[in-house]
Amino acid sequence: MNSHIIEELSKLTASGLRRTLKLVEGPQGTSVRIDGQEVILLCSNDYLGLANHPAVKEAAIKAIEEYGFGAGASRLVSGNMEPHIILEERIKLFKRAEAVLLFNSGYNANLGCISAIADRHTDIFSDKLNHASIVDACILSRANVKRYPNRDIESLEGMLKASKSRKKLIITDGVFSMDGTIAPLPQIVPLLDRYGATLIIDDAHATGVLGKGGRGTLEHFGIKHPSVIQMGTLGKALGSFGAFIAGSAELIDLLISKARPFIFTTALPPSVCAAATKAIDLVEENPYLIKNLSDNISFMREGLKDAGLDTMGSLTQIIPIFVGKAEKTMEASKKLLERGVFIQGIRPPTVPEDTSRLRLTVMATHSKADLTQALNSIKEVFNG
Ligand SMILES: *Cc1c(COP(=O)(O)O)cnc(C)c1O
Repeated sequence: MNSHIIEELSKLTASGLRRTLKLVEGPQGTSVRIDGQEVILLCSNDYLGLANHPAVKEAAIKAIEEYGFGAGASRLVSGNMEPHIILEERIKLFKRAEAVLLFNSGYNANLGCISAIADRHTDIFSDKLNHASIVDACILSRANVKRYPNRDIESLEGMLKASKSRKKLIITDGVFSMDGTIAPLPQIVPLLDRYGATLIIDDAHATGVLGKGGRGTLEHFGIKHPSVIQMGTLGKALGSFGAFIAGSAELIDLLISKARPFIFTTALPPSVCAAATKAIDLVEENPYLIKNLSDNISFMREGLKDAGLDTMGSLTQIIPIFVGKAEKTMEASKKLLERGVFIQGIRPPTVPEDTSRLRLTVMATHSKADLTQALNSIKEVFNG
């Protein structure tokens, strides 16, 4: 067995696809220490700077004092505690949803929700750039999966028209995690009633970010539709950990009985829920967080464009810098790190072959000085 493992590893090394872990010393922030060197952090999903926010930490500490650390069991056994319920109620208000169910991560939420509602009689229409967790969930569901080209509504409609299934499920990322583009919901939502389809939006990168109140892609477009299912994560802009599905009361009831990644796993620690609840309060009470993020996004994107770099049509806090080849991308990332700027390179299988890129993410808490310094280093590395 081990010789197969070694062989597999050398193949990865040879194709420049071997991954290694970088150690970040200390908490998440606009800058972090790596190997003792202070670097500007431009690849965290902690978009609002809440992961190390004093009020979020205090909420978690208080919950540990009151409820202890572990939940001890799955929610259906004896792990269902007050902080879980309080958080679900808080998300319901925030998302203006009928019902909400927590999952232990976004990966699990997609796996659980999609495999619970789709089966071998379902046609799933999935955007080609959807997150890996959606791809895996589709396989697990045993549904017929049809992948449409990224944000291509004509192709999607053609596939819906051709489908003979009574159960049609469209799945799209709200914000595409490696491109920073936004799903064209104003064109997708009218297809639901026309073709009797259900829509799941993965708002991992839109929760706490898009829309005036950070409620996600539907708020961004001003769309209300009662049957749309929304997934959101608590570990990105909300600085905590875990995820949720928001939808109808019947959907949530079904998930409680059928979603295996909900049923067969230990409940989130209560402190994690208390931290997420506080983070949602902070987003609602401090509109400047989203405003600062939005200002920083424009500043960075325009700066990169002025430097002649290709940001691949990004409109959000996720700003790719297109490179192409995997090795060249990792080289650029390394050179930037030497100059005190941490931007992770992204390569296959996370993105398609020859579309490797640096995936830069800005935070609400970055200062203009941080961003200017980063821009100067980026120009040095790319333009010499
Ligand atoms: C990060 C991400 C997930 C997974 O969420 P986790 O809570 O980190 O497991 C799912 N979908 C998308 C689009 C993501 O970017």
